[in-house]
This record gives sequence, structure tokens and C-alpha cells, in this order.
Amino acid sequence: MPVNEHISKGLRRNDRQLYEVIESIFPTVPNSATYHRGLLEALGQVDGEVSRLIAAEHDRLQNTLQLIAAENQCSRAVLAALGSVVQNKTTEGFVGSRFHGGCEVVDGLETLAVTRAKEVFGAQHANVQPHSGTGANQIVLTAILETGDRILSLAMDQGGHVSHGAAVAFAGKFFEVEQYHVDPKSFLLDYGAIRQQALRFRPRLIICGASAYSRIIDFAAYRRIADEVGAYLMADISHISGLIAAGVHPSPVDHAHFTTTSTYKPGGPRGGLILMGRDFDAPIQAGGRSVPLWERIEKTTFPGFQGTPYLNNIAAKAVFFREMLSAEYKARQFKIVENAQVLARAFDRIGYDILTGGTDNHMFCINVGHFREGLTGAIAQHCLEECGIIVNMNRLPYDPHSPRVTSGMRLGTPIVTKNGMGQTQMEAIAGLIDNVLTQVEPAGSREYRLDDRLRLETKHQVEDLCARFPMV
Ligand SMILES: *Cc1c(COP(=O)(O)O)cnc(C)c1O
Repeated sequence: MPVNEHISKGLRRNDRQLYEVIESIFPTVPNSATYHRGLLEALGQVDGEVSRLIAAEHDRLQNTLQLIAAENQCSRAVLAALGSVVQNKTTEGFVGSRFHGGCEVVDGLETLAVTRAKEVFGAQHANVQPHSGTGANQIVLTAILETGDRILSLAMDQGGHVSHGAAVAFAGKFFEVEQYHVDPKSFLLDYGAIRQQALRFRPRLIICGASAYSRIIDFAAYRRIADEVGAYLMADISHISGLIAAGVHPSPVDHAHFTTTSTYKPGGPRGGLILMGRDFDAPIQAGGRSVPLWERIEKTTFPGFQGTPYLNNIAAKAVFFREMLSAEYKARQFKIVENAQVLARAFDRIGYDILTGGTDNHMFCINVGHFREGLTGAIAQHCLEECGIIVNMNRLPYDPHSPRVTSGMRLGTPIVTKNGMGQTQMEAIAGLIDNVLTQVEPAGSREYRLDDRLRLETKHQVEDLCARFPMV
């Protein structure tokens, strides 16, 4: 027992009053390790309700199959950084131009995150402050466009993202948006058609990147179109940034003026990232003077768009970018694609209609309406959920159904791959899903009947499968 503790123990026994006086003058100051240890126990002691719900979410994740293409599973190291005291630090501005004192430690963290992000993506500039992928997009749009400027982007039902100009969202409200479409037969991006549309529409910004597109995106082709019409190019790689970091998908960083991504989809903490390649210091006119693009992006991040950065998320991003540089992370990205291809082939063999016939990345969409009369994305999602298989309904290009019904189901393999599943498990998963979708009885566009025995049996099979691949 350390001397101090020995003395204080003796004191506590012999002279309670004196002990308390000494304690109040010299309270034991826990170090960082003791402070952060047992965070969940501490939460359990003060808030049983939230604590129980967090435990329930852990159990749900462990005991059901996570096949949502937009989800991933961060490491415990990333979680630790997120739940650290760094969350308490308030400041504004960037490293070297902060508006509050006491930033020497968080400056170190943000610098690490930036340096590592640049290394991961081979970028000239990285901005790690955006609170989300959507926020990163809004910052870029606000930085380079004036109200009413023109954007050309992929429509949401074609695989695009709501933040790319959907009428219901920010960009749709402040800018003039025209959207491009995939080829109605092949469902592939048609660069010739996009070029024609750009020549006619003359956008100031072209957005590429998608939330539901399973093929390689030709970023160089987009840049040629942007240069021809004098537009900026933004590549939103939220879904495929992990694959790009590992070299499984070509990188847009030197083609696009701006590359944006969410940081949770490749497996990190929630948040956004803006990267810039060879055009990082190209001049842009802002407020009557010429500034480099990277500076325009920083000024638009703060004070233009956000307030204080989430420094704990930035610390977690730093941890994650280091993970992304590892051989294990890179190898896993190849395995994610391989698993997606095995899963797609297994469905294809059974007779499902897979959009574009397969996949080059981590996800693909199935037209469930083509599999069985009356089956919709909504029914597929809900009946599978009852069986412990978590997927999401997805509107397909030229989908006759509304967003709450849809003809499609989107499947992704990042999480099952992270937990160690491979070819055998992909084939088993296709079988489990097919078994349910073959037997469910549609009763309307969202309602259905599902046999209780089938539900319970599938649920148990899913639990057995998941138990063999614990969350890592
Ligand atoms: C998920 C996604 C986003 C949004 O990221 P959030 O961090 O959830 O706001 C943006 N763009 C694309 C293409 C996405 O898939």
C-alpha cells in the first residue's frame, strides 16, 4: 500500500475529522486512466434507464445481422476517444488561429487527425472539422456557390444522396438544381448523357458520388466534363471512402476540387471530412479578393457554417485514420468487396434481380418486386427485421413505388466482414433471406403475414450465426 494511502487509512480510523480536513485540502486526483476507467459502470450508477438501453443496443447489434450498407462498426479505441474528456474542450477556429485559450493539447489532436487524413487519402489538404457528411457537403456548397447558382447532381432515387440537391433539403432550397439519371436499361452512369446535360445546363458545381451505386465511378470522366463547362467538381465518397483509402476503388482526390465523406461509413466515428488534392490552392474570388480554395473552405467551416468543432470526434477521427493506414484495415476492404460479390452471386443463382448484375464495391441493390409479385422493399425490410436480419428498403432508379414502399432492398457487407464472416456465411445469409422472402405473404404495399415458426427458426439461426462472430 502506498505511504499516503497507509497514512490516510490510519487517519480515517483514528481521527475522522482531521482526515476530512486533509482530504478537502488534498483531494486524491485520479489520473486519466482512473478517470476514464469504468465509464459504463459510472453511467449505470447514475442512469439505469439509459444504461439499460445502451446494453440493449449492444445485444441487438451482437445478435442480429447488420447488412445496412451505410453502417459500419468502429473499434473500441475509437469509442474510447469519443467518450473522453476531450469532449469538454470548447474553441473556435483552426489550429494556429483559435479563439480560446487552453488549446495546446487539442491542437495536437487536430494536427494528428489532419496529417493522418492527408496520408490516408494522398491529399494536399484535409479539414477534419465537419460535424457530418451532410455538413461537409453544405460547407463546400456554401463556400463556392451564391444563392441561385446551378448544381448538377445524381437524383436521390437514382442512387444519389439527399444532401446533393433534393428539393426537400438545404441545397434544393438555396440553389438551382438539375439532376442526372442512370441509364434506364443498364442502370449505369452514362457519362455521355451527363456531359450533354452539363453542356446544356451549365452548372457551377457538378456533384458525383452515391449512396446506392454498386459500380466503379469514373471520377476522371466527371472532371473532364466539369472542365469543359467550367464547373467545380465535388466527389462525395461517403460510402466508398474506406475502399478508396485501401486502393480497392480509384481515388477522386486529385480529380475533384473537393472530396467529402462521412467518417462513420468507412468504420470511424460519426463526423465528416473534406479533402483537397492538386487544386487545393487554386484561387477563388470571395468578398472581393482572391483566396486559395482551402482557405475558403476553412472560413466557410468556421465562422461560415459551424461553431465549435467536436474535438472528441476529431480525436476519434485521428485514431481511425491511423487504423485506416494499417495492413489489417486495407486487407479488410478487399474482403468486404469479395463478400459483397459472393453474396450478390448467391442471390443471382437463386434468381433475384440484382441491379447492374453485380457489384464492384461493398453493396448492391435487389429488385424484390421482380422476385415475387406484390413483394416491396418495405415488406422485405420489415419481415426480415422480425427475423433478426437488418437491411433497408431502397428506392431504385425509375421506381414506381414511393420512398416508404420502394421496389428495392439494399445490402452491404462492411459489418459482417469486420466480424470475420466470409464466403460460407455469405451463402448462408442469402439462403436465410431467400427462405423468408419466398414464404412471406404480402397483404398490401407495406403489410404482410409471416409464419411464426419461420420467424422463430430464422431468428435462432441468425443468433447462432452471430454468436460465432462476436463484435470486435
Ligand atoms: C451517408 C451519406 C452522407 C451523409 O453523411 P451524414 O454524416 O450521415 O450526414 C452524405 N453523402 C453520401 C453519398 C452518403 O451516403
